[in-house]
Amino acid sequence: MSTQVFIGIGANLGDASATVAQAIAALGQLPDTHLVAQSSLFGSAPVDSSGDDYVNAVAELETTLSATALLQHLQAVELAHGRERPYRNAPRTLDLDLLLYGSHVIVNDDLQVPHPRMTERAFVLLPLLQLAKDIHIPGKGQAQDFVAAVADQRIQELSTD
Ligand code: ADP
Ligand code: MG
Repeated sequence: MSTQVFIGIGANLGDASATVAQAIAALGQLPDTHLVAQSSLFGSAPVDSSGDDYVNAVAELETTLSATALLQHLQAVELAHGRERPYRNAPRTLDLDLLLYGSHVIVNDDLQVPHPRMTERAFVLLPLLQLAKDIHIPGKGQAQDFVAAVADQRIQELSTD
């Protein structure tokens, strides 16, 4: 049985829009996985980070991979884009976060799902709601109920042309 999954994608080094587009394509190529939908690309001011604006998007997948296996694949895609971690919250070529894995709640040393900071970030909530306006975040509530609290975060939908 497959599971509906949402992945948060962010980049702020190099050609960030191209990196995000390539990352979405790579997600669609993962084993036992298919790409259901992708949000628009958004530009956002860094939150808890530094450097240029980020380019963000959310991808919806259906997968039969376990959450742990999926996380390992996400990290491999990050590495393939030259991600380095010189210090916590450094600017990054590519960041892939497992936001939601069906309605599962997962807490272990390597993985927390729902992603613990997703409700505090406009760059996650807005693209997620574009794909799934009624989505529920297990243990938290309706995603749309968190939007008002992030209204001060600068974000814009990037034109697609
Ligand atoms: P952030 O995405 O919060 O800016 P990082 O990408 O640098 O931080 O954090 C990566 C670490 O976060 C990985 O070692 C991974 O094990 C852990 N992690 C915990 N939960 C998740 C999740 N839901 N998605 C992605 N990584 C996660
Ligand atoms: Mg991450």
